[in-house]
Amino acid sequence: MNINPNYENLEQSYLFSTIAHKVNDFISKNPDNKLIRLGIGDVTLPLCKAVTDALHKAVDEMGVKETFRGYGPEQGYDFLREAVQKYYKKHNVELDLDEIFISDGAKSDLGNILDLFNTNNTVLVPDPVYPVYVDTNVMAGRKVIYADANGENGFLPLPDESIKADLIYICSPNNPTGAVYNREQLKIWIDYAKKSDAVILFDAAYECFISDENLPHSIYEIEGAKACAIEFCSLSKTAGFTGTRCGYTIVPKALGKLNKMWLRRQTTKFNGVPYIVQRAAEAVFSEEGQKEIKENINYYKENAKIISDTLDKCNIWHVGGKHSPYIWLKCPNNMKSWEFFDYLLNNAQVVGTPGAGFGKNGEGYFRLTSFGSRENTSEAMKRFEKLF
Ligand code: PLP
Repeated sequence: MNINPNYENLEQSYLFSTIAHKVNDFISKNPDNKLIRLGIGDVTLPLCKAVTDALHKAVDEMGVKETFRGYGPEQGYDFLREAVQKYYKKHNVELDLDEIFISDGAKSDLGNILDLFNTNNTVLVPDPVYPVYVDTNVMAGRKVIYADANGENGFLPLPDESIKADLIYICSPNNPTGAVYNREQLKIWIDYAKKSDAVILFDAAYECFISDENLPHSIYEIEGAKACAIEFCSLSKTAGFTGTRCGYTIVPKALGKLNKMWLRRQTTKFNGVPYIVQRAAEAVFSEEGQKEIKENINYYKENAKIISDTLDKCNIWHVGGKHSPYIWLKCPNNMKSWEFFDYLLNNAQVVGTPGAGFGKNGEGYFRLTSFGSRENTSEAMKRFEKLF
């Protein structure tokens, strides 16, 4: 046998292991420290009541012969696909049920979708970015090129007409920068993709954080997108499903063969999301569920505002935070990302994530998240004010 040689080309990710190492070292030398972690990429609030009620009910159904369920449809039960369909309608997007595919989260589908594309395709990825886009393509041996996101373009790069790409990743609201594309900017990407017969892979995992009605939650809110874009979304950050696992991917029929190919791929390699999880996901879209998850999202958003307001007071340049749980700041005094990490750890006992870990353009920047508690977020910001 021959192993896949492309795995040799993956860059080792030292980001989170180095952070853990530095933090553990600090704690062992400063046992009485009051360390605050604002680098968390996971949610911290529990599932809402509508969701846990639905879970309990579904578990009981599974324990009774008459209501027990075995294998379900690989692409998801209709009750959940209909709930997703209704949710899109709220944003004026009409989808057919067979364009909606339920998954165990966005990460798997972002990787799995690549089964549909030839390995000789060129992939355009923003830098800095969620590392999964790059690594999944490197594993398949595809050529990856980058769209530079930086201070000048507000971390929202637009296409360079002189560059040809076949697959284009867009993440809005963005991880790690929190920057959000507006309709006009997305239209430019759509026109560019159509001109070069490319497909956009649109990651909407943080759409629920958007609170400005003028900003698009879905790329399909923009004319022409159905003919050139696949959209990925997840209940992980929307409803605290990071450990429960449920998401959805939209493959419009306007994309031609790709819709049927994805169905074929899923029915061949995937056996569906557990019934009880799909019932829990359905509850997220109920009136009660929407009300309850909004309370949690607003809690994180208030944390983000506290961070953003403090950075404003300290005259620290930043983006994100308004329509995203992430705040992306320029390290004060021209410090490099890791230099700032050490400075913050040693002088304020606050932990964040060095921007350099997300790509070369992340150097000199730093990511804070709003997933901590209110108390910790406020205390961390008091320390920022003292320091800067
Ligand atoms: N997309 C982005 C941009 C993310 O930041 C994450 C998780 O951090 C995911 C996708 C993965 O989401 P899921 O938990 O649904 O796999």
